[in-house]
Formats: sequence, structure tokens, C-alpha cells
Amino acid sequence: MRRPIVAGNWKLHGSRAENARLIEELMAQLPSKPAALCIVCPPFVYLQEAARLLRGSSIELGAQDVCAEAQGAFTGQVSAAMLKDVGCEYVIVGHSERRLLYRESDQIVARKFAAAQSKGMIPILCVGEQLAEREANRMQDVVARQLDAVLELCGVETFANAVIAYEPVWAIGTGRNATPDQAQDVHAFIRARLAARNAKIAAETRILYGGSVKAGNAAELFAMADVDGGLIGGASLKADEFLAILAAARPHRSK
Ligand code: PEP
Repeated sequence: MRRPIVAGNWKLHGSRAENARLIEELMAQLPSKPAALCIVCPPFVYLQEAARLLRGSSIELGAQDVCAEAQGAFTGQVSAAMLKDVGCEYVIVGHSERRLLYRESDQIVARKFAAAQSKGMIPILCVGEQLAEREANRMQDVVARQLDAVLELCGVETFANAVIAYEPVWAIGTGRNATPDQAQDVHAFIRARLAARNAKIAAETRILYGGSVKAGNAAELFAMADVDGGLIGGASLKADEFLAILAAARPHRSK
């Protein structure tokens, strides 16, 4: 079985006090053995404090981005070794906001993915098409291109220690989620593309859906055979809502 994951991307939100309150609420209300793995991804500056607050809980810590370089003259950047050093096990790479607002190419994203893995972290690789690309029925081309950049640099075996998040850009922060069938179609396409190279790894890779997931729509999305949980933005900032989404996640058979 694939254990589902529900990861909260806090983006540019929070403060020391707000984060402490949110983490405290999550820790108090999370069941002792949740079906899904719970991950939170606060902004860089709060990671070390979040790691301290989360100690002893089953909630894992992730970062929202990582530098592709290991060290050197890269002002403002944070390396994979630094993230690992403060207690991060996961890192989001290739979020559409990074790809679009900061012009990250598929190749840069692939190098970030490799940098994270080189320090023993698990990358959460985001892929997904923009609205015009969906309207032109090009979502498979776009997702294939984004995925192939990582496959070419790192090989398929690398997905034994990675997570994929399919996030249609038109669904992120818009309140307009993909339908369960739309999500399932692309998730199945991603899994098939991995399976063409390695069927076992494809069957075991967790593929999350992201884009306006809420307590009210999580169950129907997570019921789809290839949807292994979610990457959650806005709804991850409210403990009740995030925990309700987490409770909706179900394991799926990997064969
Ligand atoms: C995200 O930013 O990854 C995301 C899915 O955001 P939201 O849930 O707010 O659409």
C-alpha cells in the first residue's frame, strides 16, 4: 500500500506566534496513528523553531524551496545541507510560483531535486499546466516535459526517494479545484510515464494533488486510485481544515 501524504505549504504567511499556535493545535489534535503522513512547510526563517516545536510529534518538516548549488557566492540562497542541518526531511521543488514568478526552468528544478536528494532529503516535485495549456489540451506535454527533466538528470530510480505533486496552475489559490476525474487522468499519466522506465518504482511513488483542496472536496479527490494525498496551500493555515483534509486521505494499493 502507498501511505498517503498531506503536506501544508505555508508560503509567505505566519509569524513566530502564529506558527507556534498552529503547530500546537496540529499536535494536540492529530490522531496518534494517522493514516496519512503529515508535513508542514513554513518559510525558511521559521524552520529551526518549527523543528524544535515539532520534536516528539509525527509531523514532518519541509522547506518550500532549496538552492541548486551546494555553497558559495549565492546571496540570499539556502542550501540542502542547511535545510537538513535544521531538521528538514522534505523540500518542495518546482512549485508553480517558483517556476512562473522566479522563472525557474525545468533544468534548474531538476538540479534542485538532485541537490535535495544528495543531502538525504525527500524532494516534493511539483508539476502542472497553466490554464491556456489545459485549454489547448497540452497538459500531458507540459507535465511530461517537467518530469522528463528530472528523469534525464537523475534517473527513474531516484523516485524511490521522492514525491510528486500534480498542481494545475489554474487551480492554485483560485478556489477552482480540478475535478477528481481530471486529477486522476493526469496522475495516471504520470504513473504510466514512470512505469515505462520502472514499473515497481512507478507503483510505489506517491503522487499528490494540489490546487484548492479543502475539507469539503478532499475525500472525493483522495478516493481516486492514483491520488495519494495532497499538497495544500491556503487550507493548511487553519488547523481544523488541514486536519479534516488529512483525515480524508486513504492508502491505495501499489499493485
Ligand atoms: C499550493 O500552493 O501548492 C496550493 C495547492 O495552494 P492552494 O491549496 O491554496 O490552492
